[in-house]
This record gives sequence, C-alpha cells and structure tokens, in this order.
Amino acid sequence: MMQDLSKCAIHTITTKAWDLPTACAKYAAVGVRGAGVWRQWLEGRELAQSRKMLDDHGIAAVSLVRGGFFVGETAEQSQAAIDENKRCLDEAAAIGADQVVLVCGAVPGMPLNEARQQVTDGIAACVPHAAERGVKLSIEPLHPMYASDRSCVNTIGQANDIIDQTGADWVGIAADVYHIWWDPDLEQEIKRAGNRIIGFHVCDWMTPTTDLLNDRGLMGEGCIDIPGIRKMVEATGFDGWNEVEIFSNRLWATEPDEFLKNITEAYRQHV
Ligand code: ZN
Repeated sequence: MMQDLSKCAIHTITTKAWDLPTACAKYAAVGVRGAGVWRQWLEGRELAQSRKMLDDHGIAAVSLVRGGFFVGETAEQSQAAIDENKRCLDEAAAIGADQVVLVCGAVPGMPLNEARQQVTDGIAACVPHAAERGVKLSIEPLHPMYASDRSCVNTIGQANDIIDQTGADWVGIAADVYHIWWDPDLEQEIKRAGNRIIGFHVCDWMTPTTDLLNDRGLMGEGCIDIPGIRKMVEATGFDGWNEVEIFSNRLWATEPDEFLKNITEAYRQHV
C-alpha cells in the first residue's frame, strides 16, 4: 500500500547540508510535517527561536536526538552524563518534542552487563526530571556492531528489561529498523513492549555495508522488510511518526533537493 506523508518525519541529520530554518522550509514545501531534531541543529540561537522556526513552518519536533551515553569509567563521568541528559530533556521541552532519543553508551572492555546496569541507573536518575518536563526518555537499541563503544543495549528485549526496572511512565523505546531487523525475537519483544514503543525510525540495510556508521540506505534499497516491522509496531497500538533517519556518505553527496524528493518517493513506496 502506498503511504501518504501525514506521518513522515525526517531527522535533520538526514538532510545534513541544511540548517534548521532551511530544513523546515524544504520539508514543509514537500509536505513533510515532522522533524527529528538533532541537538547540533539548535546551536547558535535561543531555543525559543528554533521553536518559532518549526512552528512557523508547521513542522512538529517529533524527537530530540540524542541523549544517553550513560556509561562511564568514573562516578564523575556518570554524573556528567546524567546532567547532560537533563539538559536534553529541557531542550526537548523547549522545542515541543515529547521524547529524547537515547544512544545508551558503552565503554570498550567493560562487561556489557555492567554497562547495562549503569544505563539503567542513569535512566532511573533522570526519570524525575523527565516527569517534571513532560518529556519521555526513549531507549534506542543499536545494532550489536556498536556494542563495544556506542551502546550496550542492542535489542528490544534488553530495552524491555531496563524499563521493567525504571518503570514505563517516562521511559519508552525507539524502534529503528536498521538496528533491530535481524533479531529472531523481534516480534515477540515488540509485543512485550506494547505501548512502550514511542518511536519508529526507518532507512535500509545495504549489502555489503561499506561503512559501519555512514552507509545506510534509502528505504527500499536494502534488505529490511520495513512494512513488516511497521505492522508489528502498529499492532502494539503505535500510531506515531515514521522518522526517516539516514546517515550515508553516498546519499549526502547527492544534490540535497533531489535527495529529499527521493526520500519522499521511497517513503511512499517502501514504508
Ligand atoms: Zn534511529
């Protein structure tokens, strides 16, 4: 079935060449109404000004990307991470985003169970601030190829285990097809997550993948059954945005307006 663009959001890093005002204008011009706002796109102006730019173009701030990085080697590092995540929650509230996406963190050589405990503790320490701001912490499990240095949380199941401990009132899950498509327990853990799923990110997995970070594909270019995973997520009752999040040196090198057009076409056909 062809999708319309009513639930299409784009992460500002996807259209890396454009600053926030340009991205807002370009998205609005093609009928995209939501943005995943990366923190770097807020730098250099008051938060209220960014909020106004989004509002003036009718663009909803769907998520603030990204907080997390809770895993540290010292207590000072852990506390600094908690403080930084509180700032993320403040920024999200200021631009009208109802969730902060968390890349949970990892330290090479630290046992993953120990790292996950630090993540659980860090998130729990931020929950009161999240409640105060009315903004959720959204755990994004990352593909296990990032387990040594970016995130010790690699499956929806591990995110569920953490939320079992932190409570689900202010902690949810961002399900990104790039990170979770391979998981044999995917359907069962999405069911277990239920209304904890508060974000859905789309792109595609290229074969071969030539760069661990910046070789994501446009939806339909790779091997992920995106509509199949979307159905699993929507079966939980999720009816939020589908956020296009693509890091790709190949696609960033293309002409930005053409790339945006290709994103909306791929979205209609393959999400
Ligand atoms: Zn994502």
